[in-house]
Amino acid sequence: MIMDRRDIEKLTSIVGRGNILTDKEERICYAYDATNQLHLPGAVLFPASATEISRIMTLANRQGFPVTPRGAGSGFTGGSLPVEGGVVVSLERMNRILEIDEENLLAVVEPGVVNGDLQMAVERLGLFYPPDPSSMKFCTIGGNIAECAGGPRAVKYGVTRDYVLGLEVVLPDGGIVDTGVATIKGVVGYDLTRLFVGSEGTLGIVTRATLKLLPLPEAFNTMMVTFKDVVDGAKAVSAIIRSGVVPTAVEIIDGVSIGCVKDGAATGIPDGVDAILLIELDGDRGSIDRDAASVKDLCLENNGLDIKIASSKKEVKALWRLRRALSPSLARIKPNKLNEDVVVPRSKIPDLLSGVRDVSEDKGLMIPCFGHAGDGNIHVNVMYDARDKGETERAWEAVKAVFELVVRLGGTISGEHGVGTAKAPYISMELKPPVINVMKDIKDLFDPKGILNPGKIFQCHRGGSDEGP
Ligand SMILES: Cc1cc2nc3c(=O)[nH]c(=O)nc-3n(C[C@H](O)[C@H](O)[C@H](O)COP(=O)(O)OP(=O)(O)OC[C@H]3O[C@@H](n4cnc5c(N)ncnc54)[C@H](O)[C@@H]3O)c2cc1C
Repeated sequence: MIMDRRDIEKLTSIVGRGNILTDKEERICYAYDATNQLHLPGAVLFPASATEISRIMTLANRQGFPVTPRGAGSGFTGGSLPVEGGVVVSLERMNRILEIDEENLLAVVEPGVVNGDLQMAVERLGLFYPPDPSSMKFCTIGGNIAECAGGPRAVKYGVTRDYVLGLEVVLPDGGIVDTGVATIKGVVGYDLTRLFVGSEGTLGIVTRATLKLLPLPEAFNTMMVTFKDVVDGAKAVSAIIRSGVVPTAVEIIDGVSIGCVKDGAATGIPDGVDAILLIELDGDRGSIDRDAASVKDLCLENNGLDIKIASSKKEVKALWRLRRALSPSLARIKPNKLNEDVVVPRSKIPDLLSGVRDVSEDKGLMIPCFGHAGDGNIHVNVMYDARDKGETERAWEAVKAVFELVVRLGGTISGEHGVGTAKAPYISMELKPPVINVMKDIKDLFDPKGILNPGKIFQCHRGGSDEGP
């Protein structure tokens, strides 16, 4: 249902005149995310509390207009886009760190807190919040929870779900619930916290989160290893994991991606390098030195060319800057990309990378790969020019071929970006119909009118088929 003038007046009275956008030029700023789609919301709201969000949802539920929650809009799958119109609820005003409990190693935060701001705040107290998506300078904790975001440190520390102990959530009917605990253990009833984590803003709007913290590790060691062949780099990753060393992060960057950053900045990477591993270890000094020696040996055994160990904080930052510059620098190849965050068992990374090379040759498209090799999560970027119809078709064929390869290798089509609209046509390649039906039943239970973030995860909400392409 389309909102009318009276709905807008009621919404204005809920959030206040200065906290609603209705002009087209302003709404357009909230029509995008990191995909190239554009969906204009009817209005953008900036509530300041769970109570205001509850009143918005109550009105939306009564009038039947869609509501789409939004953090920083950095998602790669269209999750924050109002594909069926209605209002966008931006959580950016709810950005307070409410508490850092140093005794119990907990933080209580509002959803609009930027991940990197939380990291810095806890590190100042000698504490550590491990989930570190490469977008941490701008993405929000609410968006991280909704997507179950990961990052380079997931190899050792896991992903967002491993740090969320409890949530306050506004449900589609306007009810406000508290889930979970503020303790390390807790098994009373179903684990609703885990259900909300990764639910892509389709079951409720997170308005507060209780997060687990860790003590900040004593020391870090960051090294960069170059390889002449990307498959050798991938084999080195498998060898490191097999050896029993648990690195904090193992990031892989293939030759095509290296070319992009080399074009844009002086990196000091010589020609002929087809893969880089960025490896980080943390812990106490003694164990790090021992693990670093093993990692170096394993890289050399797998034809590593050159090993550079960062000797200062500045050098560590420079190495990570190279990794974080990758995603934006791909635009040098082609204006458009289909960025897939597939995961395979770590022993299968060499098969994935050589399989993607075959797809790249077959479709005549460049497909740079990089990402969190330590947990088997590789970002496969199919580059194309959307103005070229033939190339666009081949790009989508390439995506399908990559997903088929991933499922064949025993992997999953999304490790951290979620389904949104981008992967909705493909979920049946991985999930069997009975499982999809259970998921749809859960959505119906929470949101029988289908007003919260409609059009996401499932291609067809009810009564139809989610058969893939
Ligand atoms: C350069 C770049 C690098 C990236 N690197 C990584 C990476 O390493 N790892 C990774 O996991 N992701 C990465 N991402 C993807 C993205 O940053 C993450 O998915 C992030 O968690 C999204 O946060 P956001 O605040 O931008 O959320 P948005 O994009 O605004 O929203 C994402 C989803 O969350 C929902 N949502 C937002 N807030 C709430 C809330 N309070 N309650 C309920 N639902 C909500 C939205 O409806 C939407 O479905 C990267 C993105 C970019 C652009």
